[in-house]
Amino acid sequence: MKSQARVVVIGGGAVGCSALYHLTQLGWTDAVLLERDELTAGSTWHAAGNCPNFSTSWSILKLQRYSTALYARLAHETGYDINYHLTGSIRLAHTADRVDEFRHVLAQARAQQTEFELLAPAQIKERHPFLELDDIRLGLWDPGDGDIDPAQLTQALAKGARDRGASVYRHTGVTGIRELASGGWRIETTAGAIDAEYVINAAGYRGGEVAAMIGEYLPMVTLSHQYLLTEDIQALRERGAARLPLVRDPDVSYYLRQERHGLLLGPYESRGRAHWLDDLPHEFAHQLFADDLGRIESYIEAACARMPILGSVGVKRVINGPIPYAPDGNPLMGPAAVGRNFFHCCAFTFGIVQAGGAGRIIAEWLVNGEPDWDVWPLDHRRYLPFANRSYTLAKALETYEHEYGVAYPQEERPAGRPAKTSPLYDRLRAIGAVFGARGGWERALYYAKSEDPAGPECSFRRPQWHRAITRECAAVAGGVALLELPGFTKFEVTGAGAPAWLDYLVAGALPRPGRSTLSYFCSPRGGIVSEMTVSRLGEDRFWLISAAAGERHDEHWLRSHLSQRFGPVSLANLTCRYGSLIVVGPHSRTLLARIADADLTNEAFPWLTVRTVPIGYTEALALRVNYVGELGWELHVPSEHLLSVHQLLVDAREELELVHFGLYAMESLRLEKCYRSWKADLTTEYTPLMASLERFVRLDKQTDFIGRDALRREAAAGPKERFVPLLVEARDADAAAVSIVYRGSERVGLVTSGGYGYRLNRSIALAYVRADLARPGTELEVEILGERRPARVGREPLYDPENLRLRA
Ligand SMILES: Cc1cc2nc3c(=O)[nH]c(=O)nc-3n(C[C@H](O)[C@H](O)[C@H](O)COP(=O)(O)OP(=O)(O)OC[C@H]3O[C@@H](n4cnc5c(N)ncnc54)[C@H](O)[C@@H]3O)c2cc1C
Repeated sequence: MKSQARVVVIGGGAVGCSALYHLTQLGWTDAVLLERDELTAGSTWHAAGNCPNFSTSWSILKLQRYSTALYARLAHETGYDINYHLTGSIRLAHTADRVDEFRHVLAQARAQQTEFELLAPAQIKERHPFLELDDIRLGLWDPGDGDIDPAQLTQALAKGARDRGASVYRHTGVTGIRELASGGWRIETTAGAIDAEYVINAAGYRGGEVAAMIGEYLPMVTLSHQYLLTEDIQALRERGAARLPLVRDPDVSYYLRQERHGLLLGPYESRGRAHWLDDLPHEFAHQLFADDLGRIESYIEAACARMPILGSVGVKRVINGPIPYAPDGNPLMGPAAVGRNFFHCCAFTFGIVQAGGAGRIIAEWLVNGEPDWDVWPLDHRRYLPFANRSYTLAKALETYEHEYGVAYPQEERPAGRPAKTSPLYDRLRAIGAVFGARGGWERALYYAKSEDPAGPECSFRRPQWHRAITRECAAVAGGVALLELPGFTKFEVTGAGAPAWLDYLVAGALPRPGRSTLSYFCSPRGGIVSEMTVSRLGEDRFWLISAAAGERHDEHWLRSHLSQRFGPVSLANLTCRYGSLIVVGPHSRTLLARIADADLTNEAFPWLTVRTVPIGYTEALALRVNYVGELGWELHVPSEHLLSVHQLLVDAREELELVHFGLYAMESLRLEKCYRSWKADLTTEYTPLMASLERFVRLDKQTDFIGRDALRREAAAGPKERFVPLLVEARDADAAAVSIVYRGSERVGLVTSGGYGYRLNRSIALAYVRADLARPGTELEVEILGERRPARVGREPLYDPENLRLRA
């Protein structure tokens, strides 16, 4: 074995081999793959090999589309034969909600140049004569779906990589990894040591084991998943080489396809099983679990009713194999928090169809410093440290059970909750708070009242809680209202080098002492990595506040850029030490003045300033900013005083009606102000110039900053797309994220957030559109659940254009 390589990939499953293939494609040919057994010995060898394009997630749809396109040409490209049957597939819809879901995904796919089709039952029957369809509303046709031989796929990828100079060492298990003082990593294996600049952990369900070798924990567990293969069926034999389309019956929860002249049936059952919670057996490779057909009996019956020929023959073989799961069923990818240049790329539950795209993404991450696409749903930093084994197990089992559930835009599932609660949790619950989890924190979504109408909590249309939001938005606009935001990410940056260091990280100007500003952190390519409110509490003391979900991501970005070249800088994560209360509305000053020992007048405490304000027995850091566009303050209060400060606010209300509001109202209010949301409207695929945020960018700053050159080039050429608000003539459904914007028959943009604005009484979408169509007044259309609705480009902010209310 070589003793040195630029990059070592650990794990020779479909994903590891794809990583190796793509690294060599990008020119990194000094690459080595280490496999403890034979290639495919993990989950890959026994996978069913189904390869859909379909996904309800924009990022995963993109990734899978890339894979299927690659697989279609891979045999030719590598000279290695692969059995890949492009049969197309039909997903069956039993319910109106499922039809809504299909319509939404169909538009997303179209925007990615993939044409799905909706089929009436009679059309389904034409393509699949063996199905009983009495209870089916319609089907979704994915023409690029099919099944591939996973072992051949893996071998082809490995061959392609080897042909370009990479090495693959089988029976070479990694036993230890340590970071070298000189930089890079030493990887100890059963066949000696190898040093590498970069490492990729592609160890599949053993990904956690490999992560532990560098002292990192990954939230993943191993479950079992099984499918059965039937004996040959005469009716299929008679069809000769013709193959049936793959069928998925998501409302029952199984897939069913032809395998040779028999059938292959795989359910995602309601009671999944976890394995090896304490330890992974070292010797397990190329093995299966014992058959467990009892678990899937009812699904077999349902599938036999759907396709009676299934019940006409016996079961030939059962495959029950290990499958890794992160809490949400998406993989864990991206740079490790420990050390430099160590990347995870494991925990794939659909790793055959995702291997192609995942290999490309991880290779770009190493070679180019970042992937071409924003892949936040796959980034392992989406999990905060609380996601321990108990949480991961509870969530993974829930996800497995819902693998085929309807992907509602706002669904809050109960497993693994409550994980993190603020001291106010019980108090808010007692007054009707309905909670959702954000970064593990229970946050009020809205406050229900007994007189509110009953109705579904989840829908693609406006659900029943819109009554509550109407009430809460009215209070924010007309009185005084309170929002608690536990888990708001907060960092303190101090030290003589802090101003210069921050100036290098952000695209805009730093605020003067006593002031706050929104700041954009860009990648070298100019894409938006993060958005934070930067408050300057002293010459060299700053607070950085960002989204709850971004805590690990943002901390990783900041820490990995720490450098002494600007002078001493220290960074502290204060997230759990402070709770956050947002007090807003025209009467917020009156209310706050009753409890705060501070001058809150406009002269003493104007918009965009920050002060330390004594309240009760503590001091709050008060920012005269908010995300809803009314007079108001963000109060960051030491956690141990949160309850008492909240009580003071409630007790001080006297004749004022103090209304609590939740995240859903906040979302509506911020849409009206066109405030962007991180990872919805702001991703690495958009720059601050595309996001129409040039007022926060200083291309003429004296100092260099990350992304400056790319932004200068873009400014000179003019951004190709621009962020705009759209006023939409919607019916009972608003534009969801990734709805498509049209001009005539041409697709000209993409919605990144949408909803109803209750102060304006308008349906609103925030979108990126072709730059020449960004002028206010331009007439466009947005596709909502299969229907094109008129939409006009508005001038931002839509609500209170002069910001008079914020400055009041
Ligand atoms: C029954 C079943 C059916 C499935 N059907 C499908 C399907 O139809 N479509 C689909 O997309 N997905 C399917 N999957 C999921 C799919 O099998 C996995 O997602 C995929 O195989 C994961 O590939 P991987 O390369 O990430 O991991 P693995 O295939 O597990 O590869 C990881 C490799 O790393 C090696 N390794 C681990 N530790 C070390 C170490 N310390 N040193 C060196 N090497 C190490 C292992 O030996 C292994 O070969 C199915 C899974 C099951 C269980």
